[in-house]
Amino acid sequence: MRKNIVAGNWKMNNSLDQTKALIEDLTTELKEVQLANTRVIIAPSFVNLQQAIQNTENNVIEVVAQNMHYAKSGAYTGEVSAEMLTSIGVKTVILGHSERRAYFNETDESLTEKVNTAIANNFDVIFCFGEQLKDRESENHFNIVEVQLKNVLFELPADAFKNIILAYEPVWAIGTGKTASADQAQEMHLFIRNTLSKKYDAKLAESVSILYGGSVKPNNAEEIFSKPDVDGGLIGGASLKAKDFSAIVKAI
Ligand code: PEP
Repeated sequence: MRKNIVAGNWKMNNSLDQTKALIEDLTTELKEVQLANTRVIIAPSFVNLQQAIQNTENNVIEVVAQNMHYAKSGAYTGEVSAEMLTSIGVKTVILGHSERRAYFNETDESLTEKVNTAIANNFDVIFCFGEQLKDRESENHFNIVEVQLKNVLFELPADAFKNIILAYEPVWAIGTGKTASADQAQEMHLFIRNTLSKKYDAKLAESVSILYGGSVKPNNAEEIFSKPDVDGGLIGGASLKAKDFSAIVKAI
């Protein structure tokens, strides 16, 4: 059975002290929550990863990275490798977030290298993709999503998909307060599953968790998560408040 996953992408937020405080509050909020078959994930900034790992040692929260370089090591100033992340106990990485594509020129080519490196180093990958507003308005959104998947993931062997988590994030819904409706999310998630099924097979397609991301909040999470092909969410803004994030976790 595929996993439910609620992942908080903290982006470039929270000092060391704020990281400790938010984890403490989250731990309190989630203490009594039954989380069968559910992963709860947070992605603090690189500098706070090690502290976050220490502070989550005795609870259900997993700490993951927001990005990673594809090279093993070398002259890549400011970058972080798979080996470095592994050495501090990080086993999962978010790749392809729309902000990284937009502001840091990540392309399908560089993301293919990153995903391949992550898989070769036994990471789980939360792979983000999704159409822009113009694509949806021109009704090209299914095509765009299919091309993003094909370009980056479809050379992977079937076996690699046990380490792939998909995060469909329509760019027009990220940080804008505009959410795709639950029906729009379900329609795209079903399309993604069918696309996986055609390329690989139905069993693989059924096994992959597909998260929705884009202005998920406590007041809309339950409806979005109730859809059969939505297996959880990637949460930005609302993951920075313990009460909001834990309410979203409880909605899964
Ligand atoms: C995100 O950054 O992945 C995201 C979904 O952000 P928000 O929830 O703030 O829209």
